[in-house]
Amino acid sequence: MTELILPTTLRQSSIARFDNCPLSLLLAEQQPPEQHQPSPLAALGTLFHRWVALVIREMRATGEIHYGVDQGMERLLEVIAQRDIPDDQVVHLPLAEMKWLRICCTRWCQGGPFNASRVIAVEEELSGTVKVPDGNGGAYERTVVGHPDCIVADPPDGVIVPDWKTGWSPPAKLGYEDQQMRDQDGTREEKLTDQGYAQQVIYGILILQNLPAINRVTLREVYLRHGEYREATVDRYNLERLTDVLGAVIAQIDAAYDAGADSARWFPTAGTHCGICPAPRACPLKEWHGIPTSLDEAQLLAREWIVAAAVRKERTPLLKGWVEHHGPIPIKAGRGRREVGWVDNSTGSGKSFKLYEPDEAPPSPFDERLDQLMRQRAAA
Ligand code: SF4
Repeated sequence: MTELILPTTLRQSSIARFDNCPLSLLLAEQQPPEQHQPSPLAALGTLFHRWVALVIREMRATGEIHYGVDQGMERLLEVIAQRDIPDDQVVHLPLAEMKWLRICCTRWCQGGPFNASRVIAVEEELSGTVKVPDGNGGAYERTVVGHPDCIVADPPDGVIVPDWKTGWSPPAKLGYEDQQMRDQDGTREEKLTDQGYAQQVIYGILILQNLPAINRVTLREVYLRHGEYREATVDRYNLERLTDVLGAVIAQIDAAYDAGADSARWFPTAGTHCGICPAPRACPLKEWHGIPTSLDEAQLLAREWIVAAAVRKERTPLLKGWVEHHGPIPIKAGRGRREVGWVDNSTGSGKSFKLYEPDEAPPSPFDERLDQLMRQRAAA
């Protein structure tokens, strides 16, 4: 067994990493420090977050609620120079990516007023305690730490934790109910990124444990490139349940450390988070899923995806024609019976032509009892 040293405190980012893919946490732990240099997109995110922390601190000191683009660009030059950053925390952002950093900072400056007087904390470390089930009916305590970029008061008794997203992905579509809730105060449950859910739960627990007067913690993911945001709230009445859930996840992490680096507990699960994997080349799923680790591999994947889309487009009218005259097409799938055909949309209006579980489909016009009756009558 290859032994691992269990960290005395668990970082929010480690828990979120494990939640996405247990193996990626092990790969991150085993990565030699000289390979810690982030990807250009991650470097852009790091520089942006340093810039925004600097700007918010300045706005807090001056009482300004707007930050001029020119002033922002001056501060950005200081941030890019990284003169006062410890050597091991200097990140490399290629010149080709620099314009995107500039665009993100400009968008932030132009994104409307930011009331910095409501800022409670900027990049402060919060720590909290979580009870972890020990498997023998008892529990032990673990300390969890996190560094929200910023905590902003949301009167009367809430806070907002903004998470500025500098990546390319657009936010999830807002549903009808989300649109209605936008105009009202209160709890929101909009769709966050996978990383956002773990952040929401952990920051929610840390803030509710540290700030007793606060009853609501809203994580707001701000998509700088798209000028939109999505947010979801954790309420104090949910604190115990969420802490129990987090304790169960930490129990899995601790058990994986106990079992050693060779344990099957460090299994891989592929998804969008593979884009921030510390060592995708070491992943056993790399070949199986075609997880890209270079631009060449990403281009190959993109070509396959384009071909698949073209085949789908060409085949759709042919399949619709068959379904029109013969009904839904049953498909045998590993996870049970599926059909291709028309199904009601989850929004309640319209229909989509797609692969679905038969339970989602409208009731079949074929009625077995009626059919039997008809046959009996015909035979009589
Ligand atoms: S490439 Fe994806 S599935 Fe593989 S270890 Fe990394 S995050 Fe997990």
